[in-house]
Amino acid sequence: MVGSFLNVCVYRIPLKESIIKPPSKCPKCKKLIKPWDNIPLVSYLILGGKCRHCKEPISFQYPFIELITGMLFAFAFLKFGLSLSLLLGLFYISVLTVVTFIDIKHLIIPNKIMYPAFIFTVVFVLINFIYNQTLPLIGIKSPFLPIAGFLAGGIFLFIVTVVGEKVFKQEVMGGGDIKLAAFLGIFLGWYILLALFLGFLFGSTVGVILVLLKRKGRRDLIPFGPSLALGGIVTLFFGLKIYEFYVGLWMIQ
Ligand SMILES: [Zn+2]
Repeated sequence: MVGSFLNVCVYRIPLKESIIKPPSKCPKCKKLIKPWDNIPLVSYLILGGKCRHCKEPISFQYPFIELITGMLFAFAFLKFGLSLSLLLGLFYISVLTVVTFIDIKHLIIPNKIMYPAFIFTVVFVLINFIYNQTLPLIGIKSPFLPIAGFLAGGIFLFIVTVVGEKVFKQEVMGGGDIKLAAFLGIFLGWYILLALFLGFLFGSTVGVILVLLKRKGRRDLIPFGPSLALGGIVTLFFGLKIYEFYVGLWMIQ
């Protein structure tokens, strides 16, 4: 159900439409979608991926986001159990999902998402600090790590942006990417460096594949937000394990 709502956000926020009303309509025949035709995943399967009235195919994006959101939420529940961290984890996943799909479609990361996300996060991190003084999603005890992560993520990508523009004489990254890295940093602390590393790894891999498939030219802009978001998700679930593995490599003499 949250995935369904995230679909609405992905579709409407870049068009500057309200995410609360009007209710969902078929983009082609404009008929309102009845509640029983709006059940996440199930309705898509029952309707065979087509509008009940005009048979217009429904974008695969809808069931896909519903499925991804549902699976990530389930993983988060397995990781955190019923806790304050779970709430923040679900929020983190939701923001990253919306940002990913908007960036793929429109090559932007809207401030309309990032600013409210920052406000909610800061309030939540403060509440969390009062109760257990840990980095909420990673579980390390330190009151200053959210601030350090925020600065590390933001400043690092800012430098990449400035240097990249000088070297390539064109925009390599947007302000939205910098804000997204800073946002991830609040949650991940020093682990933001791992998320950034994974983000660049995924981004360059996808870039090389798209160029090889001739879907993109070498100078075309490929959105970085989705790679960074994926780096953030992998770090959320496997960050500690990856770090231990990496340290372990150096311990073997
Ligand atoms: Zn229709």
